[in-house]
Amino acid sequence: MKYISTRGQAPELSFEDAMLTGLARDGGLYVPAEIPVMSQDDIAALAGLPYEDIAFRVMWPYVSGSFAEDEFKEIIARAYKGFGHDARAPLKQLNENHFLLELFHGPTLAFKDFAMQLIGQLFQVALKRRGDRVTIVGATSGDTGSAAIEAFRGLDAVDVFILYPHGRVSEVQRRQMTTPADSNVHALAVDGDFDDCQAALKDMFNDFDFRDGVKLAGVNSINFARVLAQIVYYFSAAASLGAPHRKVSFTVPTGNFGDIFAGYLAKRMGLPIDRLVVATNQNDILHRCLSGHGYFKGDTIPSISPSMDIQVSSNFERALFYAYGEDGSAVAQLMDELKQGGFNISQGAMQALSESFDSGRVSEEETLATIKSTLANSVELVCPHTAVGIKVAEDHRTADVPMITLATAHPAKFPAAVEQASGVHPPLPSRMSDLYERPERVTRIANDLGALEDHIKGHIAE
Ligand SMILES: *Cc1c(COP(=O)(O)O)cnc(C)c1O
Repeated sequence: MKYISTRGQAPELSFEDAMLTGLARDGGLYVPAEIPVMSQDDIAALAGLPYEDIAFRVMWPYVSGSFAEDEFKEIIARAYKGFGHDARAPLKQLNENHFLLELFHGPTLAFKDFAMQLIGQLFQVALKRRGDRVTIVGATSGDTGSAAIEAFRGLDAVDVFILYPHGRVSEVQRRQMTTPADSNVHALAVDGDFDDCQAALKDMFNDFDFRDGVKLAGVNSINFARVLAQIVYYFSAAASLGAPHRKVSFTVPTGNFGDIFAGYLAKRMGLPIDRLVVATNQNDILHRCLSGHGYFKGDTIPSISPSMDIQVSSNFERALFYAYGEDGSAVAQLMDELKQGGFNISQGAMQALSESFDSGRVSEEETLATIKSTLANSVELVCPHTAVGIKVAEDHRTADVPMITLATAHPAKFPAAVEQASGVHPPLPSRMSDLYERPERVTRIANDLGALEDHIKGHIAE
């Protein structure tokens, strides 16, 4: 499989090169040159298989040519062996036709472990083969950073630097980033918000001297390998509810549009997905956009679902690429307009988007109320992001199609909001119960590109 840029001006790359590169050199995002399709029989055959087997069948067409079959099977096995649940992504029933897909049984208790653990193993195998090393820099609103650190800690071919907004991540998230003792792990608390961190990261990628000098690699949700790993659980969940013979819908708590874009690819691959519902908190640029009001940046307002406090959704560019009929120059033009504050979407593209996506926005009060009512009605304690999803799902579900809401984090990752809403303190799983005792190591740093680049250059291993 070859990979092309959403802006049409970067060279085509193999899966391995697209993965190691992250952002394309024209500023675009890599997507597969063609979306592979699975037949009805192929999908029916997934029912009852272990998660790892489904993962291999779904992802193989995207990576063949870069990895050998057995090598890829071993990578998948290593990626998911540290999960705390044998099913990896179990489904729980909330009511008649509403299900929760629990994606928080990985090492950092959020769905990002599904992609990051796989990417860690993929990088290790690819870099070893090349005798090369890279510097991974990531920007995080909380969960990506800890997942990346957990995936790359101790790998000798990689230094990992994580930029997070100082004071805007939960204590569990911060400790997951600042307590690993491995010398290749560097947590940076930036004086700014998540959009500042993400903008600094983009600027580093566009500074080609720096990028080539430190062999910069990205594992943010712009990396196609991240999206790829997330396609799998749409298949495993739908297959266990009767796909391909029965349609399902998904509601996805959304920030950077990575997780839900994986659902879009699953649908294009032939999975019978009826609706893909975007759920946002008060930072609702995606909901406004999908409601027909254009894509215009606002100010990020801190919320109790901080992993979705995002105003510029990096992966939305991929959805726009398909909505605009794979026209890279049209996408490049929209992204130029975004620098001036935003853009309106053409009628044709709006129609294409509404064929797959619905959306809803949830206030802080509704989020708290949903945590409370979900505990009362379904005996499930959920994190605030998941609650945003549940509320939007309840507003959108229909009697005839099962709705699956993605439970994106464990409630113990956001104990303050969960306790405020429900009166119940969510305990950490026993395998990480000493998190609050481990010493922290972090560098506080200005929101300044020069300062960040100097720090990184000064701290990579030789
Ligand atoms: C990252 C994250 C999200 C948003 O996912 P995107 O792929 O950025 O849309 C939602 N919930 C939690 C808990 C997250 O960590």
